[in-house]
Amino acid sequence: MPSNAREFPLPKRVVSRKKAALLWQKLAETYPDAQTELVYHSPFELLIAVMLSAQTTDVAVNQVTPALFARFPDVAALAKADVAEVDRLISRLGLHHAKSRHAVALSGLLLERHQGEVPQTRAELEALPGVGRKTASVVLSVAFEQAAFAVDTHVFRVARRLGFSQGKTPLEVERDVTRLLPPSQWRHAHHWLILHGRRICKAPTPKCPICPLQSLCPSAQTRMRPE
Ligand code: SF4
Repeated sequence: MPSNAREFPLPKRVVSRKKAALLWQKLAETYPDAQTELVYHSPFELLIAVMLSAQTTDVAVNQVTPALFARFPDVAALAKADVAEVDRLISRLGLHHAKSRHAVALSGLLLERHQGEVPQTRAELEALPGVGRKTASVVLSVAFEQAAFAVDTHVFRVARRLGFSQGKTPLEVERDVTRLLPPSQWRHAHHWLILHGRRICKAPTPKCPICPLQSLCPSAQTRMRPE
């Protein structure tokens, strides 16, 4: 994850709390309706979709999940699925062999341990195959509106460029960002940073001249870097 950020000069120190507050305010104004771009209809579908999204795009996940959930519409169906068939349905995704195994095993454990429901605690989620801290945070914050801040590759890069953190790991960035915001804002901040990273603050070519945060950002470049 840190490799993207190395290609672009980062600020030498974190921003003041006052400047951080202004940056958060601008992000909130710029992305007032930010939410996940994954398509899902239940906490179970969200859990599977987020697990499938590791090292691939939400767009790619949204292309495979309709057929996957049409063939295996609930926890019980996916728990009994043939892994090879699941693998074929998601074969356009990176790491699909591991993801298909995890999807089936995870569904079996949901039945065995949680009456087929998606658990609502981090410990229970992270005990499931293929579910790490980021996936658990997304499920907790998006499906259950709990205070959790998920750090993916966009969040990691943009939070460091904006000077919210100099953390070297996702956990360090999570720690620094959650100290800057009240818990009620954590899940929104995750979506603000993701959208900003996808649309403007791209890796390795941020679009600083058209960025609404340019006057506040400690990493702002005055000229557009070539793609
Ligand atoms: S000015 Fe905007 S695009 Fe440029 S580094 Fe800062 S946040 Fe990213």
